[in-house]
Amino acid sequence: MGSSLRLFRVWGIDVRVHWSFVLILVYGAFIYAGHSNPVVGALYGIVVILLLFVCVLLHEFGHALTAKYFNVNVPNITLLPIGGVAQLERMPRQPFQEFLIAIAGPAVNFVLTLLLLPVALLVVGLGVESANISSLFTYAQTRMMTPSLDGLLVYLAITNLALGLFNLLPAFPMDGGRVLRALLAMAMPYVRATRIAVMVGRMMAILLAFLGLGGNIMLLLIAFFVYVGGRGELEAVESRYVLKDIRVRQALNADAHQIFTSETIDKAVDLIMTTYQADFPVFDLGSNFVGVLTRNRLVDVLRTHGREGRVVDIMIPAQEVPVVGADVTLADVWDRMLEARSRVVAVKENGRFLGLLTLDDISELIQVVGAAKELEDRRAAQRPTKAAL
Ligand SMILES: [Zn+2]
Repeated sequence: MGSSLRLFRVWGIDVRVHWSFVLILVYGAFIYAGHSNPVVGALYGIVVILLLFVCVLLHEFGHALTAKYFNVNVPNITLLPIGGVAQLERMPRQPFQEFLIAIAGPAVNFVLTLLLLPVALLVVGLGVESANISSLFTYAQTRMMTPSLDGLLVYLAITNLALGLFNLLPAFPMDGGRVLRALLAMAMPYVRATRIAVMVGRMMAILLAFLGLGGNIMLLLIAFFVYVGGRGELEAVESRYVLKDIRVRQALNADAHQIFTSETIDKAVDLIMTTYQADFPVFDLGSNFVGVLTRNRLVDVLRTHGREGRVVDIMIPAQEVPVVGADVTLADVWDRMLEARSRVVAVKENGRFLGLLTLDDISELIQVVGAAKELEDRRAAQRPTKAAL
């Protein structure tokens, strides 16, 4: 999301728009410019697209405010040409909460439809001579493409209905797919629910791609997003499944190398080259833990300052490093890292420093323990089970 522009901030949420959004405005102007007056048509097209994206934004606020209600932080909402994305810092573990967060977006669109439709029908109805349904529809259809207030109302009412319905397709990680996963997760383990939702999502993606091949680039993009996004989330859920059974104490490296504040950067470089350890706890002369020296930080410094200087000048101070207890699970540590945007946490027990835990340690564990667990699961699947669902 690097190439997006911040529009405004409300309820602690940054609303951003991707640069490619301009293309959609041009597209809107182009579509409507073909009518009687090209300038009026083009301006109308821009208004239509802007209002459409106001609806998309309200949809995202539906997700974001429900998430905030469940104490999930939402740093930003980004508007993209294929729709909006509300960035949730984490997905709540209670399926019912995920269900409500997912369904809140389409619900906003349905409410907008219910508000707009009567007004649209009333305005359109006034313009129709014979009062039957089919002439009403034909009239509405022609009005929709003409720059007019009633056309705009009809367009927005129908579009909101379509937006709500489309998002409810069970194409994980789209809203409908999340609803499906949440419903499944009420009856079965979270990992299995996710696997099923991702599988259904893939079939939907293939279906959408087929429909998109008829010339709808939007559908192709969405199909791609569903396919790739689903796999990414499944991996995250499976990793979490592996991590929730391991405690920090079990994962701590007992003989990690240490570094002292007074040592030179040169010494740190030597240590990194000879030990395979990437991140070092830094101690003062009284053996108090005062900071962390990470490989990334060291590489940055080497690039700009060279090897002069001492460790104390370039370490991350201890106050900026998140702290966890020795008995929390690695799944919680992972959440903590994501929340704090830190690749490393300090482990402490009763105020005593026990060691560091890094993202590298965790991904290594995911691979090793994950492989073992997979074998275990396969064997378990081959054994006849006593309890059936
Ligand atoms: Zn949504």
